[in-house]
Amino acid sequence: MDKGSSIYIAGHRGLVGSAIARRLRALGFTNILTRTHKELDLLEQAAVRRFFEIEKPEYVFLAAAKVGGIHANDSYPAEFIRDNLLIQTNVIDAAWRSGVKKLCFLGSSCIYPKLAPQPINEKHLLTGPLEPTNEWYAIAKIAGIKMCQAYRRQYDFSAISLMPTNLYGPGDNFDLQSSHVLPALLRKFHEAKEAGSAEVVVWGTGKPRREFLHVDDMADASVHLMRVYDEEQIVNVGVGQDVTIAELAEYVRDAVGYTGRVVFDPSMPDGTPRKLLDVTRLHATGWRAKVPLDEGIRQTYEWYLENVAPPRLMAL
Ligand code: GDP
Repeated sequence: MDKGSSIYIAGHRGLVGSAIARRLRALGFTNILTRTHKELDLLEQAAVRRFFEIEKPEYVFLAAAKVGGIHANDSYPAEFIRDNLLIQTNVIDAAWRSGVKKLCFLGSSCIYPKLAPQPINEKHLLTGPLEPTNEWYAIAKIAGIKMCQAYRRQYDFSAISLMPTNLYGPGDNFDLQSSHVLPALLRKFHEAKEAGSAEVVVWGTGKPRREFLHVDDMADASVHLMRVYDEEQIVNVGVGQDVTIAELAEYVRDAVGYTGRVVFDPSMPDGTPRKLLDVTRLHATGWRAKVPLDEGIRQTYEWYLENVAPPRLMAL
């Protein structure tokens, strides 16, 4: 991939896609190709094929997906499995047909069995039952991995698959019904502070453990692996450390400056008890995460204040 290569980012308005676009631009790549949902509906096979035939990108980052937190996954299983299968099948196949040199498919750590040994190694894929709240999404992503591997075996298509841990950062979804835990807590603590509420409700028991990777790190790793990695095996992308949801809530409380109480609501699902990735393979490629969690949360809170939080009424 050189600075003038034509690079298509599918999903450039999403959390990961927008971070990849920022990273590529910062590195001096000048030929970045994007399409809004209105310009190109990735669910439509004929439209996707036409786009690839006309534009003939050389490299593809497949960051387009229907995504959401534990509640959204649980509520819309049909949409999660259908849209993700369609998007990835259309893009991977059209990319291969049009002669794309290399494609990077982005999956998720939820592809692993619910009770996989921790930290989760890439070899644990398909060794046990999935977490039921997001198995629809996970099955679609596993199909995407297998499709990349099958196209590599049969057609010699250079497709790699990366499995990020829980991501967060600028551009995240802060809608309380569909978001992941970190943006949800930032918003809940912010609104509680603004309203002077005595407590913030955190779903579940607070005991599950999660690993959080800043999306700028994810984008940096994706560009790095696109350059140096070309094998069938999937690669985990994480930081190698996790925290409990209760600890995360404390980090967020500090970043926001909220002084009230934190209460847990065990009637909401905990999901999988722990999800920490084994990042040995990633580290062997010479890459490590750089953004510390506290700093990343503070920076994401600033982005939220500037871009999402409703402006405060100012007394004149
Ligand atoms: P998961 O990693 O796929 O389970 O997805 P989430 O990021 O949605 O949830 C992670 C954990 O955070 C689960 O144990 C949730 O119950 C917990 N959690 C606590 N408060 C919230 C919240 O306000 N929103 C979400 N999405 N999760 C929360």
